[in-house]
Amino acid sequence: MDETKRSIVIIGGGITGLCAAYELIKSSPPNSKLDITLLESSSQLGGAIQTLRRDGFVIEKGPDSFLFRKPAVVQLCKELGLEKDLVAMSPDSTKSFIYMNKQLHPMPEGLSLGIPTRIGPFIKTDLLTLKGKVRAAMDFIIPRRTATDDESLGSLIKRRLGTEVADHLVSPVLAGIYAGDLNKLSTAATFPQMAYMEQKHRSLILGMLANRRTVQDANSSEKHRLPEHLKKSMFLSLREGLMMLVERLNDVLRSSGVQIITKCEVRRVVGVTEGYQISTTGKSYTADRIIFAVPAEQTREILGERLPGPLVEALTSVPGVSVVNLAMAFNESDIPVLFKGAGFVIPRDQGMRITACTLTSQKWPHTTSPGKVLLRAYIGHSDDQKHVDEDDATLIDVAYRELSSILSIQRKPLFCEISRHYGSMPQYLPGHLDRITKLEEQVGTMYPGIIMAGKSFRGVGIPDCIRQGRDAAKKLIGAAG
Ligand SMILES: Cc1cc2nc3c(=O)[nH]c(=O)nc-3n(C[C@H](O)[C@H](O)[C@H](O)COP(=O)(O)OP(=O)(O)OC[C@H]3O[C@@H](n4cnc5c(N)ncnc54)[C@H](O)[C@@H]3O)c2cc1C
Repeated sequence: MDETKRSIVIIGGGITGLCAAYELIKSSPPNSKLDITLLESSSQLGGAIQTLRRDGFVIEKGPDSFLFRKPAVVQLCKELGLEKDLVAMSPDSTKSFIYMNKQLHPMPEGLSLGIPTRIGPFIKTDLLTLKGKVRAAMDFIIPRRTATDDESLGSLIKRRLGTEVADHLVSPVLAGIYAGDLNKLSTAATFPQMAYMEQKHRSLILGMLANRRTVQDANSSEKHRLPEHLKKSMFLSLREGLMMLVERLNDVLRSSGVQIITKCEVRRVVGVTEGYQISTTGKSYTADRIIFAVPAEQTREILGERLPGPLVEALTSVPGVSVVNLAMAFNESDIPVLFKGAGFVIPRDQGMRITACTLTSQKWPHTTSPGKVLLRAYIGHSDDQKHVDEDDATLIDVAYRELSSILSIQRKPLFCEISRHYGSMPQYLPGHLDRITKLEEQVGTMYPGIIMAGKSFRGVGIPDCIRQGRDAAKKLIGAAG
């Protein structure tokens, strides 16, 4: 990088934007003159990640954990000195349930992403009819697909394992991640390993078995020097909530001279002779380079109506689904027979409005004081967007009624915290990765020095967003090099 001072603006203070800023200060050479500003529209940082600490409860209003297998979060926690704050899922919460035909059924053991990998529990489960089980077993003999286009997840699962497995096992499990319709989600952009497994092993069941062994080996490898109890947990979280990550990043960035400006919504970015002019609800900024760490829809709005057609098309092809979650606190005595487990999911055809419920206090003991119970119910799916807009009282009433019918709850909650996330779950439609690759190429040519990163593009999970934010910064520094 040359001797003149360079200004870099990051738009969006979610985990992607924060990690982009962090990587900029970490990777830029000591003598580089970088002027880094992060602009965030809301009053607080973190985007989807928001933790509320209330009455002894740690309540996650957005994500509650992250996948251990993807190393980006653990790596970042180590760098930020948060390794000692990592917490594992309770060993009591290894079981999950599916609510069907007015009963909770344990998920068959060995289910991986909803795909059966153990014959015994699969044969015994009453979640599928005999016909459904026989159809699933055909996975062992059906030839592999020869077409190479990006198939929808629904089509792939139904083709190999049948409709019952797709609707009753895979769909409710994956709905928790995308709140979406399997038939509309891209396999290549969401679970590319499934298409790969079919090509390599022909059978998804055999592929999943082989994959589980590899994952176990990776988790036990030396690259994660963590205590055993953490390594055994598929998901991890942080003792005082995931917001710890945001708070620590905020401290590190501010003390390194990054200007962080909240309540500052970016309205427009236009190219000027040297760099870009950024108009906001506050003052205007100029920047040599910009990292867009906002969802695709906001990126399109900011770049304005003069955006060429193919870019508009790519940026509007990642619709966001809205979801609500309701954290409900109870006294233990109000739920006399709470089963041991992480929670349950509800297939869409069961006539319930809630799509799932996490038994948060059992799954994550750090969230709750002894004698209390914390539940988190979810409403909102790509095929149910109307209920997200209902008023708080109606949502609480519906969630309470449905939960008490399933869990025999005796009393109304001590309190309920509602978190609405509008358009927050990006839907990667078939062809997503090709569209994003083209988008990146076109942006690189038409808007030099602008990079887009975050949940709309190359992965929605926290580890993917951290990776994207950091990669965007490295790319920007490299390009400025
Ligand atoms: C309810 C829910 C539960 C989830 N659970 C999990 C989980 O358990 N584990 C997991 O790994 N992932 C989970 N995810 C996904 C993950 O949390 C998100 O995908 C990730 O945090 C997104 O980060 P981001 O920075 O890309 O986007 P965001 O978090 O959306 O951040 C974007 C930021 O940009 C700001 N912004 C928008 N427009 C402008 C503008 N014009 N000017 C300035 N700022 C702007 C927004 O205010 C926001 O702060 C969950 C997501 C949701 C919504």
